[in-house]
Parts: sequence; C-alpha cells; structure tokens
Amino acid sequence: MNYKLTKADDHWFRENINCQYACPVNTPAMNYIERITAGDFDASLRLNFMANLFPHILGRVCTHPCETACRRGVIDKPLAICSLKRSAGDFALKKSPPKPVHIEKAGYRVAIIGSGPSGLAAAHNLVMKGHTVVIYEALPVAGGMLSVGIPPYRLPRAQIEAAINGITELGAEIRLNSPIDTPDAFDTLLKEYRAVYIATGAHKSQILEIPGEDLRGVMHGVTFMKETNLEMLKTVPEKVAV
Ligand code: SF4
Repeated sequence: MNYKLTKADDHWFRENINCQYACPVNTPAMNYIERITAGDFDASLRLNFMANLFPHILGRVCTHPCETACRRGVIDKPLAICSLKRSAGDFALKKSPPKPVHIEKAGYRVAIIGSGPSGLAAAHNLVMKGHTVVIYEALPVAGGMLSVGIPPYRLPRAQIEAAINGITELGAEIRLNSPIDTPDAFDTLLKEYRAVYIATGAHKSQILEIPGEDLRGVMHGVTFMKETNLEMLKTVPEKVAV
C-alpha cells in the first residue's frame, strides 16, 4: 500500500487540537486529561506544570477559553477541562513542580517589582537559571491580584501560599511593604541590580465615566475587592446597588 505523508501544519493543529491553542499558555489539555482517565494524577499535574506554574490556582479561577473551543461542545457539552485541572492538583500526591537537585549560580542579581503571577513566574525562571532574585512587593501580602483581587471562597489562600512557598524555597526573596514608588527608589534598584523586571499588575479599576461615579459611597470593583481582601473594609452597608 502506498502512503502519502502530509506534514501537519499550524492550521491542522488549530483545527484539531483547538483546546490547546485556545489556552493562553498552550496547556496540553488532552494529555493531562488522558492521564486522569488512567488514574495518574501525579503525571497529569506534571504535564500541567510544563505549561504553567499555577495549575492549582488556574483550576479554580481560569476563564477556560479551552472549554469554549472544545470540539466536544459541537456534539453536546465541552469537557470540564478547568475542573479536571483542579482535580489533578487536588488529588496528586506530589503537588509541586519537580525541584532541581542543584542550581548553578549564574551570578546576576535581578529585582522584580510586584509579586503577582507575572513577578512570581519570572522569579521562578530566573532562580532556576541561577540568578539571585529579590521581589519588591508594595502590599503587606504577596500574590498580587491572586491575593487581593479574588475572594478566598473562590481561591483558598492555602493554594496561593503553596505556590509562593514553592518559589521562595528555590531561593527567591520577597520583601513585603516595599513599594518602588519614587524615581529615587527605582534608580537605587537600577544601581543595585543587573536587571529590573516590572510586574506591577493591573490594580486600577476601570473608570466608567458616568455621572456620580466619584460620589461618596461609590466604589469600583477592583478597589472593593482589594480593600476587602486586605481587611481595610470590614463591613458593607445593608443596602448595596451593584
Ligand atoms: S483551564 Fe485555563 S490554563 Fe487550563 S487548559 Fe484551559 S485555558 Fe489553559
């Protein structure tokens, strides 16, 4: 029999593995789900770690564009890709990414401004390459919007702490209550470090530009979440319009 070999191109992958392509970090969803069906949650979580550092967190809060793209949705309902990610994280016995036995010191010092997902991921990659990393966090807690933008019932704080501890255990240092908010403070970083990575996040609410927006008692969503999570706002009035 004669076979015709055709090389699969980008278009083919997009058409046929659209869940992976819809994922912003190209997580191999079909592979990690296959491992779950085989009962191997550890392998499933390891596959997730190859795409991103925070599967325990994304399994709870990702907006899962992979599910919108899932081909099963054409027949009935898309697979619950996001919840399956959560199950991999929750049921795996080895919950953290494999740690290297030895990291060769590369000798560079790098400052990171902000300890949200971007800053933490950068810190992880830099430490793994042997650089010395110090993260400057303006708030009294690490985690950025994970900690102050999402309520604990949606994202338990233990999940955030585990992710942060995994990175500090590799050697990254986090300095809380350390805002870099003046030109002098920034200049000092430039002098003391070989490189500075700015990962300050999106902590400002979107302004709607409607009359009354700045009246007393009107609060934007991001500010409300931040003040509630930092326990600056302890009570809300009985009647609230959303
Ligand atoms: S749940 Fe989110 S991170 Fe996981 S595969 Fe889907 S889009 Fe990617």
